[in-house]
Amino acid sequence: SAPLPTDLDIANAATLRPLVDVAADLGVSPDHLEPWGRDVAKIDLAVLDEPRHQPDAKYVVVTAITPTPLGEGKTTTSVGLAQALQRLDKRAVVALRQPSMGPTFGIKGGAAGGGYSQVVPMERLNLHLTGDFHAVTAAHNLLAAMLDNHLHHGNALGLDVRNITWRRVLDVNDRSLRNIVVGLGARQDGVVRETGFDITAASEVMVLLTLATSLTDLRQRLGRIVVGYTTEGKGVTADDLHAGGAMTALLSDALKPNLLQTLEGGPAIIHCGPFGNIATGTSSVTADLIAMRGSDFAITEAGFGADMGAERFFDVKCRVSGLKPDVAVVVATVRALKTHSGRYAVKAGKPLPAGLLEERPKDVEAGLPNLRKHIEIVRRFGVQPVVAINAFPDDHDSEHAVIRRFCNSLGVRCAVTRHVAEGGAGALELARVVIEAAHEPTSFEFLYPLDLPLEQKIEAIATQIYGADGIDVSPAAAKALKDYERLGYGGLPVVIAKTHLSISSDPSLRGAPRGWRMPVREVRAAVGAGYVYAICGDMRTMPGLPTSPNAERIDITEDGSVVGLS
Ligand code: ADP
Ligand code: MG
Repeated sequence: SAPLPTDLDIANAATLRPLVDVAADLGVSPDHLEPWGRDVAKIDLAVLDEPRHQPDAKYVVVTAITPTPLGEGKTTTSVGLAQALQRLDKRAVVALRQPSMGPTFGIKGGAAGGGYSQVVPMERLNLHLTGDFHAVTAAHNLLAAMLDNHLHHGNALGLDVRNITWRRVLDVNDRSLRNIVVGLGARQDGVVRETGFDITAASEVMVLLTLATSLTDLRQRLGRIVVGYTTEGKGVTADDLHAGGAMTALLSDALKPNLLQTLEGGPAIIHCGPFGNIATGTSSVTADLIAMRGSDFAITEAGFGADMGAERFFDVKCRVSGLKPDVAVVVATVRALKTHSGRYAVKAGKPLPAGLLEERPKDVEAGLPNLRKHIEIVRRFGVQPVVAINAFPDDHDSEHAVIRRFCNSLGVRCAVTRHVAEGGAGALELARVVIEAAHEPTSFEFLYPLDLPLEQKIEAIATQIYGADGIDVSPAAAKALKDYERLGYGGLPVVIAKTHLSISSDPSLRGAPRGWRMPVREVRAAVGAGYVYAICGDMRTMPGLPTSPNAERIDITEDGSVVGLS
């Protein structure tokens, strides 16, 4: 078959529906729609206070097996599934994260789905959108400036300058800002100290915006942010610095989800974009609450594999929203399963290894333990799994057959989906099995109760989700955990910051690793966002650019349209 046009060409050729009509499909009236330039609008949260006319939608989370560094198609599958459900006369909404501009200009290019399963307008989505990320950057850095100003004017709160955890952020991959010294110069130029920049997607403000359920809740969470500790070990908050109010003012528009549309004209809610490794990796609670009110199926994506994104989605996001997921779509690809055989190494920005695209069903079979583990993770939470075999152009039917047989043997519904090449029409089989699965009884439950001590929560995830034999907590991490319990953070849920390239904390281990222990090097508290995170591996919170960044290929044509986004 002929190769597909580029994502950008497909997106540019689309005829968009008037956004008021798209909003109406979602039960959002023009009163609650705030136009934000052509074909994009914000949704007023007042819509959540309107009387209800229908029961909640079925709630579908799209997750995946352990991906290769290329990604296996959760975003494309989320969009394709929504388009297919619509073709089956279901009202379907897709709720996704806004892409960070770091990867857009770095390796990945645009991130609005792909082929005939995309969100449009694609250029706006990938470049600024409605400025929410910039608002997060501004609010985050305002707090940093107020903190440094407080130090300059005498440090009345007694902050320990060597124990300040609040850094600065920017939505650009810029490795030279990872470690910086501020306050250089004369006495009036501030207090000299070491700090650094993270990418905006790694900001606690970003996660906080994702989890806030209202403007009041946002205000309270911002005030609770802990920026550092006093010499006596007491947490100093954004409200101690009187910063919470101004930060909320900067974020009041950013709290409203953005409405766009799929290539086939269905509603797509795009909101927030927290990192998937150190943070929750999901779109916002408010987006999902709106999606659930106005549809039959609300589809949302959770970053990376089910060990990472889905676990956080269940244990952190659903705990805040109170929503109960019905179905988890586990995206699997032939290429990722083959790499779980241990016989291939896939690297971002490098050509695929020889042989990966050849017909080798035996290698797919050798990778199946990884799929099995992700299905077990979903079932552990009492949610119905559905396996979506995301078909790539070089796949072979014999390879898909291996995956289908395996799913049948586990009693898991499964479908091959061709939404990238064919749009919603290519995902009809997937949509049908998702509808079936959504009508099965579910018994959603969290992995752990919040009153379990922090260390036991970390251990529960490591052993019951990742398959570790246990955890090894460093002395520094053990001390921090004790301090957090004393400071009253013990009742928060936990997030494990680890590699997404393995179910274990070692990125080189493929399949479903057993016989390993998880080292907990360091723990940190995101008190405002509302979780404690354990660092179990080398985590980059400010990526760098590759030798030839995608930015080199982005330009505008004479008529003003953007080229090179993907
Ligand atoms: P994820 O959300 O899981 O990270 P994406 O949906 O962003 O994955 O897809 C990762 C990359 O693979 C994107 O560049 C996307 O366009 C491409 N892709 C996904 N599915 C297919 C497919 N079926 N055929 C071709 N390319 C695909
Ligand atoms: Mg994605």
